Amino acid sequence: MGRIHVLDPHVVNQIAAGEVVERPASVARELIDNALDAGARRIDVDVADGGLTRLEVADDGYGMDAADLARVFLPHATSKIRTPDDLLHIGTLGFRGEALASVGAVARVTVTSAERGGPDGGVAPGHRVVDAFGDIGPVEPAASSPGTVVLVEELFRHVPARRKFLRTPATELGHVRDVVHRFAAAFPDVGFRLRADGRTLLEAPAGEGRRARLARQIDDDVAKALLEVRDDDGLVRLEAWIGPPSTTRRDGRYELTWLGGRHVRDRTVAHAVREAYRDLLPPGGARPVAFVFLDAPADAVDVNVHPQKSEVRWRDAGAVHRLVRRALRRALEQAQPGVPVTFTAERAARVAEHVASSFVFGPRSPAYTASAPSALRRGLSDATPLPPLAPPSAETQDADATGAACDHEHVATPEAPAGVTPVEGLRPLGQALGTYLVLEADDAIVLVDQHALHERVLFDRINTRLREKGGLEVQRLLVPKVVHPGPAGAARLLDEAEWLATLGWDIGPFGDDAIAVHGVPAVLKRPDPEAALAEVLELLEAGRKEGLDRAALLSEAVDRLACRSAVMAGDRLAPEEVLALLAQAEALDHAHSCPHGRPTRLTLKRPDLERWFHRTV
Ligand code: ADP
Ligand code: MG
Repeated sequence: MGRIHVLDPHVVNQIAAGEVVERPASVARELIDNALDAGARRIDVDVADGGLTRLEVADDGYGMDAADLARVFLPHATSKIRTPDDLLHIGTLGFRGEALASVGAVARVTVTSAERGGPDGGVAPGHRVVDAFGDIGPVEPAASSPGTVVLVEELFRHVPARRKFLRTPATELGHVRDVVHRFAAAFPDVGFRLRADGRTLLEAPAGEGRRARLARQIDDDVAKALLEVRDDDGLVRLEAWIGPPSTTRRDGRYELTWLGGRHVRDRTVAHAVREAYRDLLPPGGARPVAFVFLDAPADAVDVNVHPQKSEVRWRDAGAVHRLVRRALRRALEQAQPGVPVTFTAERAARVAEHVASSFVFGPRSPAYTASAPSALRRGLSDATPLPPLAPPSAETQDADATGAACDHEHVATPEAPAGVTPVEGLRPLGQALGTYLVLEADDAIVLVDQHALHERVLFDRINTRLREKGGLEVQRLLVPKVVHPGPAGAARLLDEAEWLATLGWDIGPFGDDAIAVHGVPAVLKRPDPEAALAEVLELLEAGRKEGLDRAALLSEAVDRLACRSAVMAGDRLAPEEVLALLAQAEALDHAHSCPHGRPTRLTLKRPDLERWFHRTV
């Protein structure tokens, strides 16, 4: 009997402090929240030792009178909400009434304030109150200009556990600076200043505009290049400032999201940003610069899910994902400088005709497999109008005869029509290193990466087909293939059977822990249902964890499908296959890069070659 007792408010506040106050930067964040909620036009932050000994935030907001100051450190004391209903319409950065009580529990906090205006519009009297590690003193008169100054000293002095996790003052200062910069970027109409140990680190006048604010945290030329994007879906409003694909970073430091002016970490938005840049960034983990500012009505998002309010829960994450991905993608595509199209349809057709009569690819290596060309042919057979293919030349066939026996299958290309006219200006010269197609143009030598180009072709073809027909072509299997993804995997795949059908999969149940595959995506190069479906499962799982919507999942799936289906480096291509590839590539907007952003071709111009060989005078 009598084991349970109600905790002392001191202890309660210490526990609460553990959630809200992690380090000086989280204190800065709470205090700047409060200043902005008080309608400040100017906010000065002043720290010593990275905020460990001293952190002060001064604002010119509406201030507090003596009665308010008497309550300012009480837990769950707030002016911002009153009823449970208010929780559904939060229009302020703070609302829990917890911050000052928490900070006061783990530091010596002095709040000095005077109401702006006062009773007759004159200067209201100022007051001060101190909370020293949970001991709240009396409210006393004090000199104060209109607004509020909150001074936090000796943070965590009595909380060694917390102090242990703090880094050096320089690191803590870095976090404080990030916080101030992020607020400054979100509120360009408010003036911000940050001083540390007597040095001014930021002096941002009110009203200087978003681009100028962002330029304070990134390089000037990057800031100048930022594309401005605005959009909304009727509910959520988006303003984004994003770097063109040429301005990349090695880390995600400048992939930032704000919601209602608060910097948040949101997977949905982060993923949508990655999707928007997909296939535009160079490979090797390059990250974009993307500042995304969102505003949403309170009923579209729950901000009350995280003690520091740095994570949110969207009512319709899919809609947010779509909005961000589409708006950014469109802006990026419009901003892409026009890339000269090397192969026009007409030209590619003529090349095809020409090459058949004049050129030999090969001899093929014994390592050659028939699957690459047949994949290409499949690609061709479902392609919309294509230039006629040239029949292989006698020489080509001779070369084949010296190659592997399996080559015969594709030499007799059934779709290859007749009809030859000479080509001007562009001649395929061969395939180098088993990977690069070599072509001679009017005044240049062109190298093409066959895998990259083919992947790009397939990626676009798949997307076009999805857009126009709503689903991919199915290659029906004569004998269903049984795969064993386990009971959970099987259930998951069957749940998604309809979605999988759009990707060209035809699957059905087979016992408890297996499924029967009746058809595979026709585009698949080496149909291996077991491996391909394992990849799909993995994708579904990742999608569930990241809260991805269908559209995002689908584009991810298409990406993998294109890669699986493309000819590989090392696959030997017959001339007609090369030409078919070039002809298909011609029609694309992004033929200059593969879906992963690798370039597909390299052009060596005659003047450059002449310079290189010192032929110029
Ligand atoms: P919350 O912001 O969640 O309401 P806080 O503990 O941060 O809780 O602040 C408690 C209350 O103190 C606020 O609701 C507000 O009325 C008042 N307050 C705090 N800081 C300021 C400030 N800088 N200017 C005016 N009022 C403030
Ligand atoms: Mg607050």
